[in-house]
Amino acid sequence: PKIVSIIGARPQFIKHSPVALALQSKFDSITIHTGQHFDQNMSQVFFEELKMPKPTYMLNIGKASQHGAQTAIMLQEIENILIRESPDVVLVYGDTNSTLAGALAAAKLNIPIVHIEAGLRSFNREMPEEVNRVLTDHLSKLLFAPTSSAIANLANEGIKEGVYRVGDVMCDSLNLMKPFLEKKLNESYYFVTLHRPYNTDEKDRLVYILGILNGLSKKVVFPIHPRTQNNLKKWMIDLDTFDNIIFIPPVGYEACLSYQTFADYIITDSGGIQKEAYMLKKPCITIRKETEWVETLDGGCNMLVFEELESLRSILENDEAKEFKDLYGDGHAAEAIVAIIEEFVIGEKALAKA
Ligand code: UDP
Repeated sequence: PKIVSIIGARPQFIKHSPVALALQSKFDSITIHTGQHFDQNMSQVFFEELKMPKPTYMLNIGKASQHGAQTAIMLQEIENILIRESPDVVLVYGDTNSTLAGALAAAKLNIPIVHIEAGLRSFNREMPEEVNRVLTDHLSKLLFAPTSSAIANLANEGIKEGVYRVGDVMCDSLNLMKPFLEKKLNESYYFVTLHRPYNTDEKDRLVYILGILNGLSKKVVFPIHPRTQNNLKKWMIDLDTFDNIIFIPPVGYEACLSYQTFADYIITDSGGIQKEAYMLKKPCITIRKETEWVETLDGGCNMLVFEELESLRSILENDEAKEFKDLYGDGHAAEAIVAIIEEFVIGEKALAKA
């Protein structure tokens, strides 16, 4: 059987790596990289580190900055490839424009869609990711929901068939990298990432956050996402004035997990990093009003702070031991997913023959 997987953004390269491995022996496995993230340190580094084969198709969506235009160009190009390749299924991940474009292209051609990381909801439709997720879920035949709340969200929207919970592929990815993690700094520090528009697209907000981080009692290691970097540059913000923050370019996956593993605390607005913090048993503060990963909030393992960031300091300094559970599976989600897809494709082929 033939499968086309669509990836395009940093977290998708990471999620795809264990799945690509599991697909290898069972499927004719084709990959489309939409080019949504294309810098060396946002894309290529992950293929190298995770030893993933080069994408079969590399699209160049250019730097279309508007979400609609970006999605439209991807839709058109993915459709052409799907017509040429005629796969049995199309696989998409998460919630980016590449996810939605892939799902739409497949839906128009009546090719069954598999969605990994289905059912996540922030219930904030102002986030482009939320729109991408909801639409993709409603177009999908097989939905791999990583958490019980994701299953419940799907059920609330009337989606009950084809829903599976077999763990989270990010746990698989993390396990693959675990043997290689190492301490990068000798002093104690907090690890920070920020890239959501509501934290980085307004100058006052971003400067306010940096000011808070700069006033913390431990050093802050901060790999800057290109989006955040572009804004800092545009507003000519002098990073030297924040001398408590160690600004670095985006790091590879091993480095990102290593920094998290040895940090005293993680502060982020990333979806994936909230989860990784939890899997690594590190307490996390999420600079957002809501989260899709609600289970991480139990027992204060992850805390949402958005308006009153002054409270960060007291949270960090009055930290108590937290209890982390086993939420994301045993690191074998990818194999289970591939087995279910295979069974599904065999079933579809039998139906078509009958
Ligand atoms: N990540 C990385 N280098 C970085 C920042 C993040 O390798 O400099 C990894 C991180 O370990 C996680 C994923 O990228 O696996 C999270 O992606 P991101 O924060 O870009 O997106 P989100 O998860 O919010 O969709």
